Amino acid sequence: MSSVQTLQPMTSFVSDSHLLTDKHREFRAGLKAFLDAHVEEIAAEYEATERFPRELLLEKMAPKGYLGLPFPEEFGGRGEDSLSLAILIEECSRTWGSLGIILAAHIGLGSNPIFAFGNEEQKKKYLTPLAKGERLGGYGLTEPSAGSDSGATKTTAVFDGTHWVLNGSKAWCTNATEAYSYVVSAVTNPEAGHRGISAFIVERDFPGFSFGKKEDKMGLRASATGTLIFDNCRVPAENLLGEEGMGFKYFMQTLDGGRITIGAMALGLAQCALDEVLRTLKDTELKDDLWENEYRMAPIAEIATDVAAARHMIYNAAIQKQNLKRWTLDGAFAKFFASEIAMRATDKAVEYLAENGLTMNCKVSRAFRDTKLTTIGEGTNEIHRVVIAREILKKIAE
Ligand SMILES: Cc1cc2nc3c(=O)[nH]c(=O)nc-3n(C[C@H](O)[C@H](O)[C@H](O)COP(=O)(O)OP(=O)(O)OC[C@H]3O[C@@H](n4cnc5c(N)ncnc54)[C@H](O)[C@@H]3O)c2cc1C
Repeated sequence: MSSVQTLQPMTSFVSDSHLLTDKHREFRAGLKAFLDAHVEEIAAEYEATERFPRELLLEKMAPKGYLGLPFPEEFGGRGEDSLSLAILIEECSRTWGSLGIILAAHIGLGSNPIFAFGNEEQKKKYLTPLAKGERLGGYGLTEPSAGSDSGATKTTAVFDGTHWVLNGSKAWCTNATEAYSYVVSAVTNPEAGHRGISAFIVERDFPGFSFGKKEDKMGLRASATGTLIFDNCRVPAENLLGEEGMGFKYFMQTLDGGRITIGAMALGLAQCALDEVLRTLKDTELKDDLWENEYRMAPIAEIATDVAAARHMIYNAAIQKQNLKRWTLDGAFAKFFASEIAMRATDKAVEYLAENGLTMNCKVSRAFRDTKLTTIGEGTNEIHRVVIAREILKKIAE
C-alpha cells in the first residue's frame, strides 16, 4: 500500500489514448492552463447570472485561435485537425458546459457550413471574421414544429428578383442574440420535399430579422438559446449557401460533424464528474477509509471506465472525419454513447457528493444539469438509435 502515501487530493485522472500525438497532448495542456487561468474562476458567477461570456470569447480566446481552430489559416483559422477540435470542446465543457456549447455551435454549426459549402466570396466575407473570432455564428435548423424531422421545415424563402424573402422562425438557436451571422434552412420549392430546402447566410441586421424569446433552461444558463424570426426578411441573392435545393443534405452533413462535438461536450462533462469525485476525496480517506470501502471505490471505477471508452469513441470518430472516411456511424456511436455515459457519470457524482452535490453552484450539479442537452442536441438519442440501426442495415444490405 505504499502508493497510498503518494496520492494527493485534487488529483485528476485523464485516460490517455494511443490516437493522440504529442502535439495533441501539448494542445490539451496549453488549453487546460488557459481554462484554469481564465475560465475556472468566472464560470460559476456567469452561470448564476446567465451572463454570456462575450469578452472571454472575443478578447481572450479569439487571439489564441480557438474560435477558428479547424479552419485554414487563409480564412483566419488555426488549421488544426478534427481531433484537436474534439479536445477543445471536451476541455472547455469539462471546465464549463456553457462555454463548450457556445464554441460547438459557433465552430461546428455557425462557421463550418460556410467553410464546407460556401463560395470564395462567402468564405472571405463571413467565415474569416468568424474564424478570427471577431464575430460569433449561429445555426437555425430547428423550428417549433420541425425538430427531429427537420425535413418538415416550414420557413419559406421566395426569390423576388434580387433578394430571397424569408418568412417563418427558428427555435432553440444556440448563440441567438449574440451571433452576427446565422446559417438557416428554408423551403425554396414546396413541391420538391427534402430537395426543396435551401441554406442561407442571414446577418442579424437584415431587414425583417428579429429575435423572439430567450429560453429559460435548467442548465447551460450562460449560453443564450432563443428564437430567430423572419418577417419578410430580405436576404441578398448572393447569400444563398451552395446550391439551391441542397440545404437538407448540407444540414445533415453538418449534423454528422456536430455529433462529434456534442459527444466531446458530453465527454468533458463526464470527465468533470470524475474530477469532482476525485477532488472531494479527503487526505484521510485516501490513506485509510477509502481503501477498505469498496462501495466508495466502485463509482470511481465505473465513471473512469465509461469516460475512457467514450474518449476512445470520440477520438476515433474525429480521426475518421479528418481522414474523410465516411464517419456517420462512428459519429453517431460516439455521440450516443458519450451522452448516455455522461448522464450516468454526473448522476453518480452527485450521489457520491451527496448533499454537497445538490447545491446549485456546485460544479457537479452544474455538470449534471448541463449534460441533459447532450442526449437531445444534434438529434435526440431516440433518433440516434434509428440512425445507427439504419447505417448498420445499409452496410449489411450493400
Ligand atoms: C440547449 C439546446 C440548444 C440547441 N441549439 C440548437 C441550434 O443551435 N440550432 C438548432 O437548429 N437547433 C438547436 N437545438 C434543437 C435541437 O436540435 C432539438 O431540440 C432536437 O433536434 C430535438 O427536436 P425537438 O426538440 O423538436 O424534439 P421532437 O422532434 O419534437 O421530439 C420530441 C420527442 O420525440 C422523440 N421522437 C421524435 N421523432 C421520433 C422518431 N422518429 N422516432 C423515435 N422518437 C422520436 C424525440 O426523441 C423526443 O424524445 C437545441 C436544443 C437545445 C436543448
